[in-house]
Amino acid sequence: MSERSDLTRLTATEIAGLVATGEASAVEVTRAHLDRIAAVDDRVHAFLHVDSEGALAAAAEVDARRAAGEELGPLAGVPVAVKDVLTTKGVPTTVGSKILEGWRPPYDSTIVQRLRAAGTVMLGKTNMDEFAMGSSTEYSAYGPTHNPWDLSRIPGGSGGGSSAALAAYEAPLAIGSDTGGSIRQPGAVTGTVGAKPTYGGTSRYGLVAFSSSLDTPGPCARNVLDAALLHEVIGGHDPRDSTSIPQPVPDVVAAARLGATGDLTGVKLGIVSEFVGEGAEPGVMAAFHESVDALAKLGAEIVEVSCPHFRYALPAYYLIAPSEASSNLARFDGVRFGLRVGDDGNRSLEEVMSLTREAGFGAEVKRRIMLGTYALSSGYYDAYYGQAQKVRTLITRDFTAAFERVDALISPTTPFVAFPIGARTADPYQMYLADLFTIPTNLYGGPGISVPCGLSEGLPVGFQIMAPTMADDRMYRVAAALESVVGTFTPPAL
Ligand code: GLN
Repeated sequence: MSERSDLTRLTATEIAGLVATGEASAVEVTRAHLDRIAAVDDRVHAFLHVDSEGALAAAAEVDARRAAGEELGPLAGVPVAVKDVLTTKGVPTTVGSKILEGWRPPYDSTIVQRLRAAGTVMLGKTNMDEFAMGSSTEYSAYGPTHNPWDLSRIPGGSGGGSSAALAAYEAPLAIGSDTGGSIRQPGAVTGTVGAKPTYGGTSRYGLVAFSSSLDTPGPCARNVLDAALLHEVIGGHDPRDSTSIPQPVPDVVAAARLGATGDLTGVKLGIVSEFVGEGAEPGVMAAFHESVDALAKLGAEIVEVSCPHFRYALPAYYLIAPSEASSNLARFDGVRFGLRVGDDGNRSLEEVMSLTREAGFGAEVKRRIMLGTYALSSGYYDAYYGQAQKVRTLITRDFTAAFERVDALISPTTPFVAFPIGARTADPYQMYLADLFTIPTNLYGGPGISVPCGLSEGLPVGFQIMAPTMADDRMYRVAAALESVVGTFTPPAL
């Protein structure tokens, strides 16, 4: 094998191939990525915790299994970066919050268990907006992550660390979680691939809860096939998650391979009319329309589909998600996990709880807890939370009706490219707009993927494909077909 640093430029599929044949050891691959992290992460800040020791031990185990003649899985020996929202046994898990500083969970989340069982090598935990609330990773209690395309810009959020780690070649694979767009939007603005699986298609066991009816862990990668391989490894039924769907993972890998042949004959795609009017930057729209033309050339039939209730998705989400968060975050009380403030023997339990929450939660998290508590309070419940649930039903009906006409819906992933750090923190509404196009999918529960489709002013633009629930394979086929035409995107050297 050539230079070590070259190993960080390979796809996950290529790395797994080298490890399987013995052309590169998993330890060598891991060291190359740890060296890369050491070289660039002081500028990118994708990681909150790098587990060098754990990673090298896991890699050595893969090498030993290979030496013993064991059959290795399709991603064995491939490094992966995990969003700090998933519990990792004995490895710090902060969810980007001070309230969990120093907490080492006593168990692995199902996703992490499956990653380990597949022989992938966890490099560490990636930065995120506190409790996954945000669109820029600026709300992390541990400082922002920088976009490898332009270090003065945001990498998206909440999972900006995972996507930035990919774009900076610190990891070939990463895990994110998507409640309103937190896998797809960072994917879009960093020029990487991010897929939100069908709700219930990936396990929430050990995923620190933000909004339980929306939270969905999923794969992030630099290309569509790698994302599909990772999806297959982490997906599927988990009896420890009551909302997990008792069905096998749709064949996303076969679909990605089929799409890569560049033939979309017989596939019908619907442009969401509500998302191509005003609202998106001209450069984003130009890249989107060029991609639509490319898909048509591959044989796809393109129509416009109106989803009239999508315009209410953002306000409905900002009632439902904070409502669920206000209940989920009640467990951070200074007694059970992490931080405890003011426990000097003279204060009441209530005072200690209140001091801990005051010190441990950041401003955006407090805003969400207050919004949610208000929306759920008696007297306002019907007008806010109840109304938002009705809107959710109408949005689901829009999707169902659309999928009677088309195989998948398409739109830009985000209205704008990566913005400068600091540009939107003063106005929460401006920040919330980043998820304008991704939120409907979460409310419906179906899958959505963002795949890079071009550049606007030198910054990446994402193309979103939305499919019916448990038809995740469809979006991979279209995404891989688009990738076969536009290729993958590499940021300027760091
Ligand atoms: N940006 C959205 C929010 O702040 C979505 C977050 C997410 O998907 N975790 O709620």
